[in-house]
Amino acid sequence: MTNIILLGPPGAGKGTQARLLVEERGLVQLSTGDMLREAKDSGTEMGKIVADVMARGDLVTDEIVIGLIEEKLADTKAKGFIFDGFPRTLAQADALGALLKRSGNQLDAVIEMRVDDDALVQRITARSTCGNCGEVYNDITKPIPVDGTCTSCGQKAEFKRRADDNADSLKQRLMEYYKKTSPLIGYYYAMGDLFTVDGLGEIDAVAKSIANVLDQATAS
Ligand code: ADP
Repeated sequence: MTNIILLGPPGAGKGTQARLLVEERGLVQLSTGDMLREAKDSGTEMGKIVADVMARGDLVTDEIVIGLIEEKLADTKAKGFIFDGFPRTLAQADALGALLKRSGNQLDAVIEMRVDDDALVQRITARSTCGNCGEVYNDITKPIPVDGTCTSCGQKAEFKRRADDNADSLKQRLMEYYKKTSPLIGYYYAMGDLFTVDGLGEIDAVAKSIANVLDQATAS
């Protein structure tokens, strides 16, 4: 089993790289952000609780996200997991370690994706995605085609902006990242699991750096 954490601030490209790893390595992507958005859209009790928290850019409670992950880890047929947006706090990191240990598994690599803050703000405030296939567009570097046809899936699509991709929520998401999530870089360094890649380049270049790290991590 190969278990990887993608660690980095909002907008670092964790979701994009996770999707590539799913295609290339057959791993299962566990994005707590996607799971929480699904819960929100489905209108469940939990969805109602988390909707406001997410829109503000605050973190959802450890209890809720750990519960979501625990459920998914029960999939024993998976070849491995890519944790995207989880863990985000030290308590979540401890819980993940315990859950993996309980099932006789371990972490292979924690990949920190480093991107400078100005680039993050630019990426997120200009971001939209294809409502059909999830392809990511950027108002400046990759605008939505004028005829409204997605370049990835070829469908006439509705292009969506996330409710928390606005300047105020982003400021709060960055604050939460630096206060609560960035200490995980030191935590995983101390565990001997940390690898760092430059997340600022083209998608393919970042994917290549990640592939190199994984070859290195799984060879040892
Ligand atoms: P991004 O990394 O771009 O901020 P995500 O899609 O990973 O976006 O997460 C969106 C929101 O979902 C977060 O701002 C937070 O409110 C909530 N969330 C996602 N994952 C977690 C987590 N592991 N712990 C607490 N809250 C989370």
